[in-house]
Amino acid sequence: MLRHPFRLHLASSRLPFRLATAQPPFHPTRASHLLLLHEARLQNMAFERSSPLTRRLLAPNPGPMTLDGTNSYLISAPGSETVVVVDPGPRNEDHLAALAADGRVELVLITHHHRDHSEASVRFAELTGAPVRAADPAFCVPAFGIPALGIPALDIPALDITGEPLVDGEVIEAGGARIRVIATPGHTNDSVCFHLPDDGPNGSVLTGDTILGRGTTIIADPDGTLGDYLRSLAVLRELGPATVLPAHGPVLPDLVTICDAYLAHRRERLDQVRRALAELGSDATASGDRSFEQLVGRVTDLVYSETDAAVRFAAEASVRAQLAWLRAAD
Ligand SMILES: [Zn+2]
Repeated sequence: MLRHPFRLHLASSRLPFRLATAQPPFHPTRASHLLLLHEARLQNMAFERSSPLTRRLLAPNPGPMTLDGTNSYLISAPGSETVVVVDPGPRNEDHLAALAADGRVELVLITHHHRDHSEASVRFAELTGAPVRAADPAFCVPAFGIPALGIPALDIPALDITGEPLVDGEVIEAGGARIRVIATPGHTNDSVCFHLPDDGPNGSVLTGDTILGRGTTIIADPDGTLGDYLRSLAVLRELGPATVLPAHGPVLPDLVTICDAYLAHRRERLDQVRRALAELGSDATASGDRSFEQLVGRVTDLVYSETDAAVRFAAEASVRAQLAWLRAAD
């Protein structure tokens, strides 16, 4: 059971269940908006300018899998009256209040379903009235304030945005910016990146967990696959030297450089796994009397020997993904 923590979290955070237990929605009047702003200032939460069109706020959820914590991004062009929030993150009321207070939230986008990105979706929709959109329909939330709920519509210009699932290649205009959705499965099957072509001279890409600001990401096998991930890196590389805005860790200046580094890292890891299999006298199918999970454990011991015990399950997931890829390649 411990080997699949993401899936356990996922099962308990499916939205129909969450919606059924959600608190009654309320609407941000001017007074409540000012109250949120006041509370956010009291909490002294600091937004950081991350690119010409984006700012970000670090959520207070540091850990072995989240580095310093989740970066929640705000997209807003100069002069825009509304903002788009990407990955409101974990359910932390201070963090959400600060995000909700920094401008009228028109739309919420989710990069993928992992809890540290999507857990607060329903609560944040309650706070802001804004719809939440993700690739997986189970993680979309309609705009609170829609007639179906018997609540008056909010003064949101894009009320036709009703929490529909994101589509690869779709261009969203919100927060005064053009936001292009790019499907990038691999870390998870539902991972997407958001390309802002007008953000600075080379544009920018909000990469979620597909590319991190430090280290490398995991392939959350069996949800993500290495084949998908390698294809996604190739797709991202085609966007050129855009600014990288990751969901964890610092901003990176050049998408091409980091894609090349990630691709080189993946090749190196695959070579290490091949060498480990040779040393163990096995192949990626774990034939003979060895169970597949025993093989995963032994390969992880050899290839990820430096890995902290707290993220051992993630290393094992990556080994499973690499063995699956080698099996398919044979
Ligand atoms: Zn993730």
